[in-house]
Amino acid sequence: MTVVPQFTLTRRGFLAGTAAGASLIALHPFSAYAQANQAHLRIMETTDLHVHVFPYDYYADKPVDTVGLARTAAIIESVRAEATNAMLVDNGDFLQGNPMGDYIAYERGMKEGDMHPVITAMNTLKFDASTLGNHEFNYGLDFLMKSLAGANFPVVCANVAKTMGASPREDETLLKPYIILDRQVTDGSGETHPIRVGLIGFVPPQIMNWDRKHLEGNVQTRDIVTTAEAWVPQMLEEGCDIIVALSHSGIGAAEHTEGMENASTPLARVEGIDAIMTGHSHLVFPSPAFEGFAEVDLAKGTISGKPAVMGGFWGSHMGLIDLLLERDGNRWKVVSALSEARPISQRNEDKTISALVESVAMVEDSVRPEHEATLAYVRQAVGKTAAPLYSYFALVADDPSVQIVSIAQTWYIREMMKGTEYEALPILSAAAPFKAGGRGGPDYYTDVPVGDVAIKNVADLYLYPNTIRAVKVTGADLKDWLERSAGIFNQIEPGKADQVLLNPDFPSYNFDVIDGVTYEIDLSQPSKYGAKGEDLNPDASRIVNLMYDGKPVDPAAEFVIATNNYRAGGGGDFPGAKGETIIFEGPDTNRDIIVRYIHDQGTINPSADGNWRFAAMPGTSVLFDTGPKAAERLGEVKGLAIEAAGDGPDGFARFRITL
Ligand code: MN
Ligand code: MG
Repeated sequence: MTVVPQFTLTRRGFLAGTAAGASLIALHPFSAYAQANQAHLRIMETTDLHVHVFPYDYYADKPVDTVGLARTAAIIESVRAEATNAMLVDNGDFLQGNPMGDYIAYERGMKEGDMHPVITAMNTLKFDASTLGNHEFNYGLDFLMKSLAGANFPVVCANVAKTMGASPREDETLLKPYIILDRQVTDGSGETHPIRVGLIGFVPPQIMNWDRKHLEGNVQTRDIVTTAEAWVPQMLEEGCDIIVALSHSGIGAAEHTEGMENASTPLARVEGIDAIMTGHSHLVFPSPAFEGFAEVDLAKGTISGKPAVMGGFWGSHMGLIDLLLERDGNRWKVVSALSEARPISQRNEDKTISALVESVAMVEDSVRPEHEATLAYVRQAVGKTAAPLYSYFALVADDPSVQIVSIAQTWYIREMMKGTEYEALPILSAAAPFKAGGRGGPDYYTDVPVGDVAIKNVADLYLYPNTIRAVKVTGADLKDWLERSAGIFNQIEPGKADQVLLNPDFPSYNFDVIDGVTYEIDLSQPSKYGAKGEDLNPDASRIVNLMYDGKPVDPAAEFVIATNNYRAGGGGDFPGAKGETIIFEGPDTNRDIIVRYIHDQGTINPSADGNWRFAAMPGTSVLFDTGPKAAERLGEVKGLAIEAAGDGPDGFARFRITL
């Protein structure tokens, strides 16, 4: 919520629901001030919808208040009801990213003339225009073009070309690079005037790597900023009064570097662009997430001096840029602006979530048949598992719920490394148990029996919407990464019975198991790192017999490790994973990769391969608390002497491990 200094008015009325009698000024900031030669234009943005129309989490198979275009629609309709002049644009990533998208792509298909449900919902809301996001390319160009054929609004993208010319303006672009919408605006005295609004779209050029198999040989991409510098002057020549960039690109470095993924800040500097819609990074702008970013003014809601917005993701927010336009001869120009992202829900002090708006029935109704079909799809088997998938022992032995994640990550990263300089390096995978009791309680475990696997089970296997990464590390880093993980265990005194195994302050999501190497953990040694990754005992070593391909790991050897954006970017402060070792940033969620893997394989066999264990300590035992259902699985645990030892606290069951 931002206010430019010359207007000392509150916008609170919008967010809290407007009480009867609220002042007109609070409702119509610019409209109330607009003079005869001025007009108030409101441009609304949705971004990164990822097929979320219903407020529904299909993985969890339950309604949620945090997502859904049907909810964002309520904010859109209220703005339209208040505003004299309003436009609605989408910033891309609408076709892929939830089970409804997968249902259409993998199950129902897109035949000539078929409607894609997210396009149907967008038509219902009468979008004025959209651009493409990187995920629009995930199911191939044919799927994309058939989906776009149903859109009642133009979709623009300037930097993807079917054939590349000597300069951007000589490209044969896949879609129109820009569109000029001829509209009427009503000014402060109630008179209407024509206005030409130019909209130009951009996608990260990295789509050529992320969707190489669909795109190589079919399209090419250009740098976002140089493409804008080529086209914007032409839009001005064609008489655009205002130009809005639909930038499916995040807000990052201010300095322009060729081919940059998050280019919105240098893009905003391009002369002629009046306002910039951003997205891709699933954040909110303006918000404290961008505190301290170069050329970003959070109080004014500007980037490089231009009004900007980013409307979250999955319909979580609606981005709104309010422009006060003034007639300058025969043209309109922007004289003042406000920007804000309005949420559809709020997190309360007690951590509960409340809806701030209700669904617009017309939007839900427009895709109800596809919603129902998606519900059936997530509940039905999409594959089979030949091994049970549970996490009861994930902290004390190699475990199937962690193994399946590593199998899928390795499968994906191996494909992505093909044709790169890293192709010949060993590919390992790091994965941690997310649902492993702890503060989640004694029922907080993954447990999928042998047999059918449904899409909704995958959320259970991969809890967080992380995205895939690969890092390149040395053998020395690899060992220290495992030393960091091993900090979850208390130091165990040899020869003593019934010692407490786990440090309760160490979250299970920081216990990475690395697949593709074998190793043992010597619990008699102190931990090298503390629970937060701090150095404790620089010379300590718990990881022993670390082998790759049956031979000791050379500290100088190089490895690729598949992991997620959290870990690779420094989450948990792991050696070898502090941001500088990233060699591949994929846009796909780790969860989507598991779904794709199951689709690809039909039957999966995620039996743990027992690649790690505790080093033997004769005459020593430890106690470990886990879910009571673990008792039924005791006989299946590999490389571990474990027996029931009564009840633990708070409903947990206690087990004794003889080392
Ligand atoms: Mn996205
Ligand atoms: Mg394993």
